[in-house]
Amino acid sequence: MKTLVIATRNAHKAREIQTFLGNRFRYLTLRELSGAPPIDESGTTFAENAKLKSEGVACWLLLKRGTDRTQAWWVLADDSGLEVDALHGDPGVRSARFAATDVQVSANAPDAANNEKLLRLLADTPEEQRTARFRCALSLTEIGSGLPSQLFEGVCDGRILAGPRGTNGFGYDPLFVADGFSTTFAEMSSAEKSVISHRAKALDGLRCWADRRFGLASHARVTH
Ligand code: IMP
Repeated sequence: MKTLVIATRNAHKAREIQTFLGNRFRYLTLRELSGAPPIDESGTTFAENAKLKSEGVACWLLLKRGTDRTQAWWVLADDSGLEVDALHGDPGVRSARFAATDVQVSANAPDAANNEKLLRLLADTPEEQRTARFRCALSLTEIGSGLPSQLFEGVCDGRILAGPRGTNGFGYDPLFVADGFSTTFAEMSSAEKSVISHRAKALDGLRCWADRRFGLASHARVTH
């Protein structure tokens, strides 16, 4: 059985990824593998940051456990965020630390503070100009293989509401309505969100790639 190390401490993200990929892998996250060094997310795109994370964690695991114990181990990193057209693509790669940038802090800000800042900046933006999209880049690195990382990307277009609705999910979910829907991501169940989200689209690419690479049958798919 191949081991997939999901390079995140975010339980929401880890659950979404595991639900999607089903029994193709045995899963570990950075919650179980303590001591991972912080990765400087200095890239200017989601893809660059995802690659920095998956390769950084793969390198750390190789040094920590050696090839014997990491054979058939893969590291998957996600970098994702929200791009708002009226804000010229912001918060973009700074989505998690959007409100913290006001006070020159490089740490992540609480979701509520990020959402408040977004609403404040869009206060005078009319509904038809509140278009936005979630973007997700996934980078998959095979530990110790020396092979280049695989990249998978997904986008979900939508718009930003004038106020929050719903309590599910995380991040900007209460403010985002996907095109063709009337409920926010935070009003959807995780099963509904995982059919249309940016992460679902990127994961679909990864799932197809994994099934080709490992020769797994389509019945391994998890249905919601
Ligand atoms: P990352 O953990 O560095 O990729 O930061 C991603 C940030 O983008 C999160 O903290 C959220 O603010 C936002 N984000 C990414 N994906 C989603 C999503 O599916 N729903 C809501 N917010 C998201």
